[in-house]
Amino acid sequence: MDLLKLSALEIGGLIRQGELGVVEATRFALDRIDKTNPAINSFVTITGEQAIARAEAVQKDISAGQLTSPLAGVPMAVKDNISTQGIRTTCGSKMLDDYIPAYDATVAERIFQNGAVVLGKTNMDEFAMGSTTETSYSGPTKNPWATDRVPGGSSGGSAAAVAAGQAWYALGSDTGGSIRQPCAYCGLTGLKPTYGAVSRYGLIAYASSLDQIGPIARTAADCAAALQTFAGPDSRDSSCMPEGQNLDIRRVLETVDNPASVKGLVIGLPEDYFTHGLQPEIDQAIRRAARVLEDQGAIIRPISLSLVDEAIPAYYLIATAEASSNLSRYDGIKYGWRTNEEEVEDLVDFYRKGRTEGFGREVRRRILLGTFALSSGYYDAYYLKALKARQMVKDSFAKALGDCDMLLAPVAPTTAPKIGESLSDPLKMYLSDIYTVSANLAGLPALSLPCGLDDQGLPIGMQLIGPAFGDAKLLAVGAAYQVLTDFHQLRPEIEEVAK
Ligand code: GLN
Repeated sequence: MDLLKLSALEIGGLIRQGELGVVEATRFALDRIDKTNPAINSFVTITGEQAIARAEAVQKDISAGQLTSPLAGVPMAVKDNISTQGIRTTCGSKMLDDYIPAYDATVAERIFQNGAVVLGKTNMDEFAMGSTTETSYSGPTKNPWATDRVPGGSSGGSAAAVAAGQAWYALGSDTGGSIRQPCAYCGLTGLKPTYGAVSRYGLIAYASSLDQIGPIARTAADCAAALQTFAGPDSRDSSCMPEGQNLDIRRVLETVDNPASVKGLVIGLPEDYFTHGLQPEIDQAIRRAARVLEDQGAIIRPISLSLVDEAIPAYYLIATAEASSNLSRYDGIKYGWRTNEEEVEDLVDFYRKGRTEGFGREVRRRILLGTFALSSGYYDAYYLKALKARQMVKDSFAKALGDCDMLLAPVAPTTAPKIGESLSDPLKMYLSDIYTVSANLAGLPALSLPCGLDDQGLPIGMQLIGPAFGDAKLLAVGAAYQVLTDFHQLRPEIEEVAK
């Protein structure tokens, strides 16, 4: 049995039927990490013995019939900005290099209750700011499909881990595309849930009005199963959906192999997205995917989405403004890296030195940008204007989704760039978020899934964007598409090397 070929749900099924032990699966994954992590650098922290001990406990509960979740016992990975009690959580930053949380994020608590076995914490752009996973204090992560390329970001470690067969699924976070874009670059499926569908309690904040935790896996069905374990109301996050509401994911899990769910759906194809320097192979792959869905009875409707060019500036103003406020807590006193007190002149010097040493270049750039946008005299011209643009983006999506059930779009304008290419031109890197940031600005769910390979054999992703709390429908259509195609089955060749 080739465990590398199986999905998370298939591994979970074997475990439930007693055909695969949780410890056996965990050892298999740890061994794979051992042999491939030196080349990929997807993990910042590997839990090792802790994971084995956890696997033994989970196995007992499964055997006793106390754990019945479809993913119970399946080894997985968690992005390093999600707090895990007793497990180091660095957020990719020197600022939090030795931080060991005293509590679990709500999402972590819920996956543990459902029998998750955490293999470790995955690499990411520092404080989730970036599109390449090159800004991490722990060094860049490599794309398993081509190790001279980036895996995308900021959840690049989670995506690379799943693509390299080190974990069967992972958690990421998405503020402006950080789940969807690495999934596109690594040939995976990932969901940015509706804002408020998943608790942010214990997620180290980047931009609170945009951040959402979501699943990264091989298939839409795996994403549905994972989301089912951790979505839902949480009294500790006031922006979370109210008690009594749920995403109705169970429905997806019951009908995953039925492509008939696509029949009659109106799927909008935003014409304006097919111009902006989109790599021709991506354009063709998405149009091919549209035809696959059309053949099943979906109605493909070309639409126009206004404000495509306004989304990036609005996003970068709002995200940096919120980040400058969220990151002010890292002052070396309450939180974070503390500079050598012997060498400072006064308190201001203490803050300046500690924050300069603790934060990397990209994070400092964004704090400066955000502080500027919020400062008096500029607030109206930048921040307030960005909020107005955000409302207009929301309105244009509401209109489009009033006429269609969901939209089909590219995830990123290109496939994975080479390592080192993006950081030299940050503005160009920001523009690569053009297709992803709007879903965050509008709070909408968006699913990224593989739909082809380019001439160089690199994965291409497509994106389904739906109405708020329509997450289950996106996953159902994604699952239907994956019954009809096999792009999600493609695996990169990776050489295993002993450490
Ligand atoms: N690339 C975007 C940024 O740097 C998105 C990051 C994210 O979603 N965390 O802000």
